[in-house]
Order: sequence, then C-alpha cells, then structure tokens
Amino acid sequence: MSKTFKGQCIRCLEIKSLDQFAKDKRAKFGVRSICKSCHNAEANKRYHDRQAYIRELIAKAKEELI
Ligand SMILES: [Zn+2]
Repeated sequence: MSKTFKGQCIRCLEIKSLDQFAKDKRAKFGVRSICKSCHNAEANKRYHDRQAYIRELIAKAKEELI
C-alpha cells in the first residue's frame, strides 16, 4: 500500500486530479478512492434501482387491490 494518494480511482482506474475526488475526513488520504464521476454514476444507478423497486411495489399493491 502506498502512503500517498496517487489520484487513481479504484472504479474506473483513471488517474485524475485531486479535485476530481470528493473529500472524506474518514478516508485514508482525506479524499474518497472513487472519483466524483464514478460516485455520481453509482448514486444515479442506486436512485434508478430504487425507482424501479418502488414502481414494482406499487404495481404489486395495485394487483392485490383488484
Ligand atoms: Zn472513477
């Protein structure tokens, strides 16, 4: 394990400048190991997954009402 943060995202493996990483006090180097764009993509995916899940629940609830 290296002692200095090289700015490589563990998700896309791209080397990016430090401002491309969100700050995180609990993280080893004070920044997250996932770059902002990967983090946003994941947050986006989670949001859509949840929307799909909610839609499914609503559809199921409607079925039960009929
Ligand atoms: Zn990335």
